[in-house]
Order: sequence, then C-alpha cells, then structure tokens
Amino acid sequence: MNTSVMKVTILGGGTAGWMAAALLSKTFRSIEITLVESEDIGTIGVGEATIPSLHFFNDIMHIRSTEFAKATAGTFKLGIQFENWKAKGEHYFHGFGTTGAGMWAAGFHEYWKRGLSLGISQPFGTYNLEGVAAKQGKFAHVQGGPNFAYHLDAGLFAQKLRIEAQKLGVRRIEGKVSSVAKSEENGYLTHLVLETGELISGDLFIDCSGFAGLLIKGALDTPYVDWSHYLPMNRAIPLQTSLTSPPAPYTRAIAHEAGWQWRIPLQQRMGNGIVYCDDYLSDDEALKRLINDVEGEILTEPRVINFVTGHREKLWTKNCIALGLAGGFIEPLESTAIHLIQQGLMQLIKYFPANGINPLEVDLYNDYMLNDYRDIRDFIVLHYCQTERDDSDFWRYCKNLTLPESLSHRMKLFSETGRFVQRKEEIFSDSWLQVMIGQGLIPLQHHPLADEMSEQDLAQFLKATESTIIEQVNKLPSHEEYIRRFCLSQY
Ligand SMILES: Cc1cc2nc3c(=O)[nH]c(=O)nc-3n(C[C@H](O)[C@H](O)[C@H](O)COP(=O)(O)OP(=O)(O)OC[C@H]3O[C@@H](n4cnc5c(N)ncnc54)[C@H](O)[C@@H]3O)c2cc1C
Repeated sequence: MNTSVMKVTILGGGTAGWMAAALLSKTFRSIEITLVESEDIGTIGVGEATIPSLHFFNDIMHIRSTEFAKATAGTFKLGIQFENWKAKGEHYFHGFGTTGAGMWAAGFHEYWKRGLSLGISQPFGTYNLEGVAAKQGKFAHVQGGPNFAYHLDAGLFAQKLRIEAQKLGVRRIEGKVSSVAKSEENGYLTHLVLETGELISGDLFIDCSGFAGLLIKGALDTPYVDWSHYLPMNRAIPLQTSLTSPPAPYTRAIAHEAGWQWRIPLQQRMGNGIVYCDDYLSDDEALKRLINDVEGEILTEPRVINFVTGHREKLWTKNCIALGLAGGFIEPLESTAIHLIQQGLMQLIKYFPANGINPLEVDLYNDYMLNDYRDIRDFIVLHYCQTERDDSDFWRYCKNLTLPESLSHRMKLFSETGRFVQRKEEIFSDSWLQVMIGQGLIPLQHHPLADEMSEQDLAQFLKATESTIIEQVNKLPSHEEYIRRFCLSQY
C-alpha cells in the first residue's frame, strides 16, 4: 500500500500510548494524531523504574530531571542492588555508570582481574561511582556526577505526557474499541469501531492496548514468540506500602526460592512486588511471602498479573506497530519495558512512512527492534543462569538452562579470555561486566596490557580510582536532601 501516512491512530492510554502521542506530536507537527483509551478498562498500573536512556526521551520533550521527579513523585535511581542472586546472603550492585577507566584496548576489568590474582583488588563495585553513592544514599544531578535513571509513578508520567500531547493537538477519545475493520484488498487496518458505533480511521495504527494486543494480535493475528523456556517467570503481584525510611536512590531486587521481589522507593511510598513462576510457587504462597516481607503499612489491594515472556514475531505488521505490552514483555528485572517503548518510537520516527509504507523499511524496523529484544533477553537470562544457587527446583532449572547461542558465546568468551563484545547499538555495556562479575563469572585471563604495569603501579592505579570515587561521593548531598530541595512533589 502506498498511501502517505497523515493520520496516526493510537489505541491505548497507558505509558506506551501517551509516550507515543507526546513524542510523535512533538516531532511531527503536520500529522493528525488521535488516541483512544478506556478509563473503564484502565491501565496495567505497574512499571515504576527506568534505565538512563529515558533522558533522551525527556530531552526531546524538554523535561528537566527535577521537573520529571516532581511531576511523577519520583526518586533517582543509580542502579539495582541484587540480593541473593549469586548465592544466598550475597549482594552486588549494578550501577548505571562505567566501572573504572580502562585503556582503548584493555578494559578496566582486565586490570582489576590482574589485581585480583595478586590479591590487591577490592570488589569490582568499589570502582563504580553509582554503586558507592547508592550505598551511602547520596545523589545530585551534576556535571561529571553519577549517571542515573528514575523511579516514578507511571500513572503521573502518563498524565504529564497527556497534557503535553493535548497541547500539541493530539485528539483524545474516551471509549471502548469493540472491533477493528480491515481492508479487503490488502488486510491493512482501516478503522477502530467503538462500542458506541463511532468509527476512528487511520493511515497508521499504533497498538498500545497492553497485553490485550487488540490490533497486532486480535486483528492481525501476528504470532507470539514465547521465551518462557529461557525466562519462566509468568506471574507478578504488585503491592504498595508506606515508606519506613527515606527513599534510597536504587532499586532492590531480592531473589527468593522461585523468583524475586522488587522494592522501588518513590517520594511518598514504596512499590513492592513479587515475580515468580507458578510451576514453582502458587499464587497463595507468593502473596503470603510478599506480605511477610514488605515493610510499612499496606496501601493497595494485591492482584495477580499473568504474563508470558516473549514478543510478537513482528512488531510492525502491515500498517500497525505494537508498542509496550502489546508488543512483548521480557519480565521487569532490569526495568527495560519503558526503554523498549522509547526505542520503538525512535525507530518509527527514523523510518516514518510519510510517503507510504515500504516493506523494506518495515524490515529495518523489525530487525532493529528484535535485536534489542534479544540483547535484553540475554542480559536478563544471565542473572538467572550464572548462579551458585541450587537450593530449589527453580534455581536448579535456571542453572541447567539451555542458553541462547548469543548468550552462551558471550559468557564463554568472557570466562575464557576476559574479552567482552557487544553490538554497536546495544543499550547495556558496562552493565554486562558488573552483572557477570557480580554473579560470579570471573574470567580466567586478562589482557597482556595489564601485565605491562608493575604490581606497585597497578596497586596505585586501583587505589587512585577508589579514592577519586570516594572524594566525588563525599561532595554529594544525600538523596533525601536533594529531593527535598529541588523536586518535592505535591503527590
Ligand atoms: C509486574 C510488572 C512490572 C513492571 N515493571 C516495570 C518497570 O519497572 N519498568 C518498566 O520500564 N516497565 C515495567 N513494566 C512494564 C510496564 O508496566 C509497561 O511497559 C508499561 O506500563 C506500558 O504498558 P502499556 O501502555 O503497554 O499497557 P497498559 O498500561 O495496559 O495500557 C493499555 C491501554 O489500552 C487501553 N485499552 C485496552 N483495551 C482497550 C479497548 N478495547 N478499548 C479502548 N482502550 C483499550 C487501556 O484502557 C489502556 O489505556 C512492568 C510490567 C509488569 C507486568
């Protein structure tokens, strides 16, 4: 079909729908954008942590970090503390910045590894600014300071984006879609049909209808690629509680016998949740465990959310692009879903079919997005498969997983040689090193450049790296104080 795309119709007003409406209306002033959502159906109401890539979205939307935190009752996130993942009782930190400074040919971890063999290296996290600041509850958004993301109330984020998008001319329609009309000629979507009988047309449709996937699945029957053999988690129970201490600038991911629990501090409350696989833990047991483990007063009714990890075989099919949960879900361990929504939008803007949908561009879009999904899947599987835990059926399953070839190659290469490779576009880089090492994958070798330093120089280099970080952290205010001074929210 070679109709130029002048009308974009978005189905769904969750995080995905309003991010799409806001970014597209900000970017393309001459495109007519309509968003249909149903307050009766509501949104999924979870998704409270991000990764630093959201800065790019906020920059385009002209949202400053303090303004963002204020509007979303948010806090700052320097990374994730992983507890009990490598072994029960052991912790490590995945910080959002780079650990130490390497040379162009040899990464910092190669020097660290040599130091480890000599007994002069501290734990890897000692050399990561974000991890050290997080442990001390320190934060400021300053030049050369820690890299960060956010904890946020996703409902407030959507609200903020809705205001921006409507100012930019996005038309919002409240209503339930009851069916979808397609062209008999080529199967392209032509209209959404509301329960009231109203027809909403579009040249391009963005399916942000959540797990329902009304367009990509319901109307276009795009198959789902199921990843539960790699990532067996299929249930989550979110639960909000009151805060019992000042909000920490990091997420906690606490492993248990059949999955893990999150703790995400916002300004006025704690987001908690348990993630598990129902083959290993029943809903009742999961709820009991969650309620036992949370601190503070329980503020919300718990509810079980079911999901299947994986993605649509094609995220762009005919004249429909699936964003957010309609496109896929790789479980929330590294808070990557909002990032994938953003990536989908960036690629859509890049290949925007103003002159008609070209299958070659559709292929480019799908290839890019599916590579992103696969990279993130591999990164998340790493947390489960690289473990010493074998204290339950669940962990024994994870330990003996048949890995995706891409992941087993990466782990083997690192383990045998200390080399780490990544795709140019990949979002996680230093993160891989932190998690591989944190989970106990220590390379057997290091780069010969690290041997060019005398033992004394190496010790000095490691000490200087550590001291510089301590000095930087000492200058930061506490996270609590920073929020109180610059971003206190009315919510
Ligand atoms: C347990 C869990 C934890 C998560 N944690 C994180 C996290 O920490 N970080 C992160 O980045 N992501 C996280 N996510 C993912 C995140 O929640 C989603 O990516 C994000 O909320 C986007 O959701 P959505 O907009 O795709 O869907 P939804 O929020 O479900 O929105 C769907 C929209 O479609 C509308 N709709 C549906 N059917 C119809 C119809 N028939 N007619 C009209 N409207 C309709 C609904 O009204 C709603 O507006 C998590 C997800 C889960 C399940």
